[in-house]
Amino acid sequence: MRTIAVLGATGSIGASALDVIARHPERFRASVLSANRDVAGLIAQCLRFRPDLAVIADPSGYAALRDGLATAGLATQALAGAEALAEVAGSTACDTVVAAIVGAAGLASTLAAARAGKRILLANKESIVVAGALLMQAAAESGAQLLPVDSEHNAIFQCLPVPAIGAAARPGVRRIVLTASGGPFRGWTRGQLEHVTAEQACAHPNWRMGRKISVDSATLMNKGLEVIEARWLFDAAPAAIEVVLHPQSIVHSLVEYIDGSTLAQLGNPDMRTALAFGLAWPERIEAGVAGLDLVAVGRLDFQSPDEDTFPCLRLARAALCEGPAATTVLNAANEVAVSAFLQGRLGFLGIPALLESILAHLHERRAEDLDTLLDLDARARHAAAHWLTRCEA
Ligand code: NAD
Ligand code: MG
Repeated sequence: MRTIAVLGATGSIGASALDVIARHPERFRASVLSANRDVAGLIAQCLRFRPDLAVIADPSGYAALRDGLATAGLATQALAGAEALAEVAGSTACDTVVAAIVGAAGLASTLAAARAGKRILLANKESIVVAGALLMQAAAESGAQLLPVDSEHNAIFQCLPVPAIGAAARPGVRRIVLTASGGPFRGWTRGQLEHVTAEQACAHPNWRMGRKISVDSATLMNKGLEVIEARWLFDAAPAAIEVVLHPQSIVHSLVEYIDGSTLAQLGNPDMRTALAFGLAWPERIEAGVAGLDLVAVGRLDFQSPDEDTFPCLRLARAALCEGPAATTVLNAANEVAVSAFLQGRLGFLGIPALLESILAHLHERRAEDLDTLLDLDARARHAAAHWLTRCEA
């Protein structure tokens, strides 16, 4: 029986993970569930899954969680705070961690799971964008199984000769090709993008996701973060990672070999496939996802991304070439920018403008160890917040 901590259980990935877990009660038990602030949502999930522990990241929700669990007659123990989250991820309360928190807030728990040798289903791409080298090293040292859940990286993992993290560097692989839907604004001009709203940006054509990753998909920053993610997961040279727009989101990504072969993984756009893969690997289990009807799909289109209209992809590539300090700044400033856009405080085109300005200011800083990276993350958030206030003044 696999005991699973679903961190970020109340989110889009968390709900999909619990859906797969519920289909296989003989194999899986959700032993830990966590949420940021949604106490009611977390208690509802506890009623259904009866975990040993429930963690609310925002400490102000602790009393409501504890009392709610008791009133519901559940034996689930309530915990609160970011430290508790990281502690639980590395503890004997679970052997598997679904890292489904959004943002760099997921780093501490993901790193704790990596250090403790857990199986990690990695959805939280921001943690690897900030601390890729540290995470990979921690997993290598502890023997943690880092399994990519991001659909593109899961596809690449499945297309490698011997599916394994760090394997792309092995002879025979020439290129990794990440596919991108292009988001809701594919083909739009800068003029058209000027006044788009958060609702428009979050209306993704193919996937139902959380609001932050939806905006990232609309700016193409999501693909930029995924290039950085692929660099670390597969030990791939940045130049060997290509991005191709594929509006149907059926081909989830491809691996090209030196003999001219290209292997791809295809499927309906449903994250339960990647989650089921990660939960059962190396076996395959039912995920609740229908098989692909190629005739109904009809056609598969591919085109180059427009990096002039959507500069975030270019900014992410440049940051990757500069190093971990730059990718940390990029990620932190992007989190602030996306949040401001979602609140109506920043226009869509202001997102790359803010990033460019913050990257230019903090670009000379070096950072390799965790404390320096976290310090830089905080400085970049501060600088981005300051940029916003100046902009509004
Ligand atoms: P979401 O917003 O739907 O859910 C986020 C979850 O994290 C929620 O449970 C929330 O309570 C929790 N959370 C938020 N802030 C937190 C904090 N500060 N501390 C602790 N917990 C916090 O997001 P999502 O779409 O499920 O995405 C989660 C992660 O998975 C992101 O990193 C995203 O990039 C990645 N991802 C998502 C998808 C998808 O289809 N949704 C696909 C690939 C990768
Ligand atoms: Mg993805």
